[in-house]
Amino acid sequence: MAKIISKTQFAGVGSIVQLVGVLMAVVSTIYYGDDGLIIGGLAGLVLLVIGSAMSKVYLCSECHNPVANAKVKVCPICNINFREK
Ligand SMILES: [Zn+2]
Repeated sequence: MAKIISKTQFAGVGSIVQLVGVLMAVVSTIYYGDDGLIIGGLAGLVLLVIGSAMSKVYLCSECHNPVANAKVKVCPICNINFREK
């Protein structure tokens, strides 16, 4: 039965966003001390979450082509139906 496979990619835009998030927290801590740690840490955390969401990809189990998200009902490449969870 066809289904959507979710996979995390470690290379790509998502990991760059995460790296920026970590750098932001470190740099603002160096420049602004404790206040920078709080602000930069929060901003960094947001970027980490966004980055991990961006690095997640969904693939069709039949043709292994990427689909837009986990809620897609039909594969746009091979037109196979995914079963409802
Ligand atoms: Zn497919």
